Amino acid sequence: MRKLLVLAILSSIMFVAVFGGIIDEIKSRGYLVVGTEATFPPFEYYNENNEIVGFDIDIARKIAEALGVELKVVDTAFDGLIPSLLTKKLDMVIAGMTITEERAKVVAFSEPYFTAGQVIVVRKGSTPIKDFEGLKGKVVAVQLGTTGDLVVSELKGIKEVRRFEKFTDAFLELKNRRVDAVVLDSAVAKAYVLSNPNLEITSDVLSSEQYGIAVRKEDKDLLEFINKVLADMRKSPYDLLIEKWFAE
Ligand code: GLN
Repeated sequence: MRKLLVLAILSSIMFVAVFGGIIDEIKSRGYLVVGTEATFPPFEYYNENNEIVGFDIDIARKIAEALGVELKVVDTAFDGLIPSLLTKKLDMVIAGMTITEERAKVVAFSEPYFTAGQVIVVRKGSTPIKDFEGLKGKVVAVQLGTTGDLVVSELKGIKEVRRFEKFTDAFLELKNRRVDAVVLDSAVAKAYVLSNPNLEITSDVLSSEQYGIAVRKEDKDLLEFINKVLADMRKSPYDLLIEKWFAE
C-alpha cells in the first residue's frame, strides 16, 4: 500500500516534470517569481515601508491571484532581467519593458499593456534640451540596457554616455551636476520630476514604445494565461454585464 502511494506520488511528480507546463510547476510550488527593477516609479519602486509597489506590481499580483499562488518579487538590474528569465531564476518579467525586435528574438512578450516614449530631463535653469540633437556635446545619463541607452548610444556627437544600474543614481548625478541630462521613459520621468522640483522635462516624447510582460518562449501556457488576465482587467463594468446576461 505504502509502496503504491510512493509510486503514485513519484509518477505524478514525473508527469508534471515531463508533461506539465510552467503553470503546473508554479502552482505546485505555490508562488510566482516575478523579476523587475525597482527604481522605475510609478511602475515599480520602494515605498516608505521598503516594499516594492507600483502599477506593474499590481498587474503581477492580479496574475498571481488568478493562478491562486503567492507573489514573489525579485529586484535585479534591468540588463540582468532577461538573462535571469532565460536561466529560470524568474517565471516572468514585468519592468516597464519595451517590446523590441531584439528582445522578442529571445523572449515572448504579452500583448502591450502601456504606451511610453523617451524624454529628456535636465536641471531647472540649465539650457533646455528639446530633442536628441540637443544632446550633442553633453554628458548624458541612462539606465544600462534600456531603450534610452540604445537610442543615446547610437547618437553621434555626445560627449559621454554614463550608464547606471539604478535610475536613482542617474538622477543623483544630474542633481550633483555631474551629468547634463537623463534620458528615460516619459511616465517615469514625470514621477522623478514631481519628487525633484529642481528638475524638468524639456523635450516632447521622442519615441513610441509599448510595454509587454516577458516570459520564456517555451512557456506558451503562461503567456496565454497572462494575456487572458490582461484582457479581463480591461473589461469595463458594461462588458462584464454583457458577459453576465448574454454569454452562452
Ligand atoms: N522601457 C525601457 C526599456 O524597456 C526602460 C525600462 C526600465 O528602465 N525599467 O528599455
